[in-house]
Amino acid sequence: MRRIAFILLMLAAMTANAADKPKTALVIHGGAGVIERSHLSAEDEKAIRADLNRALDAGNAILAKGGAALDAVQAAIEVMEDSPRFNAGKGAVFNARGGHELDAAIMEGNTRRAGAVAGVTTVRHPIELARAVMEHSPHVMLAGAGAEAFADTRPEIERVPNSWFDTEHRRKQLEQAQADEKKQAALGLPPKKGTYFGTVGAVALDAHGHIAAATSTGGMTNKKWGRVGDSPIIGAGTWADANCGVSGTGWGEFYIRNAVAHDICARVAYRGDSLAVAAEEVVDKIVPAAGGDGGAIALDKDGNIATPFNTSGMYRGWVKPDGTRGVAIFRDEK
Ligand code: ASP
Repeated sequence: MRRIAFILLMLAAMTANAADKPKTALVIHGGAGVIERSHLSAEDEKAIRADLNRALDAGNAILAKGGAALDAVQAAIEVMEDSPRFNAGKGAVFNARGGHELDAAIMEGNTRRAGAVAGVTTVRHPIELARAVMEHSPHVMLAGAGAEAFADTRPEIERVPNSWFDTEHRRKQLEQAQADEKKQAALGLPPKKGTYFGTVGAVALDAHGHIAAATSTGGMTNKKWGRVGDSPIIGAGTWADANCGVSGTGWGEFYIRNAVAHDICARVAYRGDSLAVAAEEVVDKIVPAAGGDGGAIALDKDGNIATPFNTSGMYRGWVKPDGTRGVAIFRDEK
């Protein structure tokens, strides 16, 4: 009898422990766009899934040992910035002048601290510079030459020549975009919808209940020199508050005009919408109704995750509070 009571007591303690275990969660994206099975070789698909898994590993290792959501999102983003397969860091798209201008932002929800950089050209990990702006300057955003000059004052920021970001497939995309642009102009038509994909983002919930979000991108192929997209704009492509965090990917001008990342979290806060309903409403209805397209990843303080997109695909991955994880690319994957 005493033995049975003891076993019951142990079982009760174990269940309580599992319930008390602080929740952590991580969600990442590697961009949305025209991503279809017919466009992706088996080899590329495998490599992209492996990269997404490495990014999840990097972020989740930090969360699993009680680390900060801020560190987790930075670590996940840096893995994707170093991969030539995503439009961030190495492998960033080319602008109309044949160079690279990189945008990034990071935000910590519980403190509402944020840092961002726009149009940087020699910083290997723009997300690291965005974080330095947040932690070592009185500002939220630095752009262009000023951001580069700030990077000069931070020895930890690794610098590379602009050509280091070059990849052959991005050069071909620029040539294609410029040829399309000419054709459209000859017909007197406006430029076609952007063909982008590869911007990277991460949102994490740590064991302290804090949320952080981060986004890094090369922007859009053939963008004008000096163009800044939504990714580094707090509230447009990146947002975190105490209850909710978002990173977006898509046609940036529409994300800016609709304050997409903030709108998703505001719907949760003010209307009491569930995260899924809020994210789907904004990404699947508001953005397309305005003429834009793209996707977003979102996460709330309970560890709920949403990954809506209105394009044919979005590179994405997640680790839920119960430890289940996955990566997905196409629309028909769960
Ligand atoms: N949102 C990014 C931008 O407009 C592009 C993307 O997500 O692929 O700069």
